[in-house]
Amino acid sequence: MVSKGRHQNSDVASALDRAKRAGCTVAPDKNGHRWGWVVCCSCGARLAVSGTPKIPGNEAKKIDRFVREHQH
Ligand SMILES: [Zn+2]
Repeated sequence: MVSKGRHQNSDVASALDRAKRAGCTVAPDKNGHRWGWVVCCSCGARLAVSGTPKIPGNEAKKIDRFVREHQH
């Protein structure tokens, strides 16, 4: 069962967990294909997270890269 506020893809959900642990905000905000946002608490940059990524591994990598780039 998918809990509320958790991404339905486990690769992406794990990346979002890592983002949270790194201090970013994960904001579910479903709109079309968008699942929500990862927001950097230091500079306010936002990354849109797809709810229906074609290649979930790539979506997860994109999130990891964003988090790495925002370790201010
Ligand atoms: Zn930042």
